[in-house]
Amino acid sequence: MSARLIDGKAIAARIRAEIAQEVQTMVAAGHAPPGLATVLVGDYHASQAYVRSKQRACAEAGLVSFGHELPATATQDEVETVIRALNVDARVHGILVQLPLPAHLDEERVLARVDLAKDVDGFHPINIGRLAMKGRKPLFVPCTPAGCLVLLEESGATLAGANAVVLGRSNIVGLPVAMLLLHRDATVTVCHSRTRELPAVCRQADILIAAVGRAELVRADWIKPGAIVIDVGINRVADPSSPRGSRLIGDVAFDEVREVAGAITPVPGGVGPMTIALLLRNTLTAAQPGQAKTERLD
Ligand code: NAD
Repeated sequence: MSARLIDGKAIAARIRAEIAQEVQTMVAAGHAPPGLATVLVGDYHASQAYVRSKQRACAEAGLVSFGHELPATATQDEVETVIRALNVDARVHGILVQLPLPAHLDEERVLARVDLAKDVDGFHPINIGRLAMKGRKPLFVPCTPAGCLVLLEESGATLAGANAVVLGRSNIVGLPVAMLLLHRDATVTVCHSRTRELPAVCRQADILIAAVGRAELVRADWIKPGAIVIDVGINRVADPSSPRGSRLIGDVAFDEVREVAGAITPVPGGVGPMTIALLLRNTLTAAQPGQAKTERLD
């Protein structure tokens, strides 16, 4: 039996249309449109493409974006100076520092400089700290992990009491998605490169989140029949039949896993579009009159 497809592209398009509508209403009421500042350091190709697509998505939904590009040689002080200026710029409601930063920069210090009320990417140490604690509420939650949760909700998954296995423990995806699942009362197992018997652990999963970055690592015999599979991985592989000579695939062997799973996200068109939709949602939230400002801690 073939799994239900969780269509992230369609779900994200619906969220973006709702946001566009809300922005229109906000502007019609005389408020400034939400503004997102992007900070890109260096010339890493993938990061440039991600920032461009975020800016395009802003324009489509009626948000304003402010692009700041610094050379790969930028100093800690130069990056922090840009962020300090954005913190006090009233047109800017959200600040996104595109990660990864060049290795010579102190990422945590840069992220900690972002005004908590403008931390729409959710990576400020205080927001992440709150996410890691029971009963504390971050102002913003990182967009890719939040997107995974929306996809699970849309798939009709019951999270409370479910066995959830997360493959990957990165700060960007694996750890925050595990914390979100825990807050929703799932029983969470986090796996990583040193985990033993990975297929057997995955076979216990009612919900499997793959965020590893290894093309088609997850095979059909790793999957409990009927499980819900969210594939965060984005891997470029050679494909002579494609005009670009390559194509994107996930961490899950889609064609064989869909024969066992109950529901599955495709790559592309699954988690990827959700990341941008949730970023726009967070920026709109940050721009709501009165929102978050009272929580400013700096
Ligand atoms: P990362 O390299 O920071 O972390 C990878 C994690 O996988 C690590 O915790 C590592 O221990 C674990 N791992 C590595 N090999 C393993 C193995 N053989 N078995 C089990 N675990 C293993 O990567 P990341 O930033 O978390 O990204 C993971 C993937 O998600 C990448 O493909 C990335 O491109 C993709 N991604 C997608 C989006 C999106 O919007 N869809 C956003 C962020 C990342």
